[in-house]
Amino acid sequence: MKLTINESAGTITLTAVNDEDRVFIEAVAARTALLNVLKYDGRDSRINALFFKIDENRLTLRTETDADRQVMGVVRDAIFYGHTGGLIYLGLNVEDPDSIIVTCGRCKGCGRNLIHRHETASEICDDCATRCHHHYVQGHILSHKGLAEGLYCKYCMRAKPDQQLAFQKGMQVL
Ligand SMILES: [Zn+2]
Ligand SMILES: [Zn+2]
Repeated sequence: MKLTINESAGTITLTAVNDEDRVFIEAVAARTALLNVLKYDGRDSRINALFFKIDENRLTLRTETDADRQVMGVVRDAIFYGHTGGLIYLGLNVEDPDSIIVTCGRCKGCGRNLIHRHETASEICDDCATRCHHHYVQGHILSHKGLAEGLYCKYCMRAKPDQQLAFQKGMQVL
């Protein structure tokens, strides 16, 4: 599968490059209602695959190239740390019959689509976080380097700027 991130729209376009991918795309398009969640069902990094479930059927999303694998890592983290439990189906890519559009979460402040883990974990997008009236508390936060201890805002879950975070050894985030 080819995975294309659209940062400004907060979406990922999945485009089939082989028959296995076409089965995936067709199953999602035929059996998932708009805005419904395609449930995450684990991964197998040995074969570069994420699994999803529709009813009782397990679908395989497999990548071939390094670039696609990288985007797949972003997607997997966004799902793993997020609240959606999978991918939100946003519909067909009308320009290509072998292609669909998904996202990983929604901002509680403005409804924007979210595809990065620090945003899906808080369900607050970066724009809304800049307008947040922060209320800092001590605790564990997920930063781009891993799990850390420090002051974070209990509303937008962003770390307090300019503080030294204590990173937890051996807790490197994937
Ligand atoms: Zn927002
Ligand atoms: Zn805040």
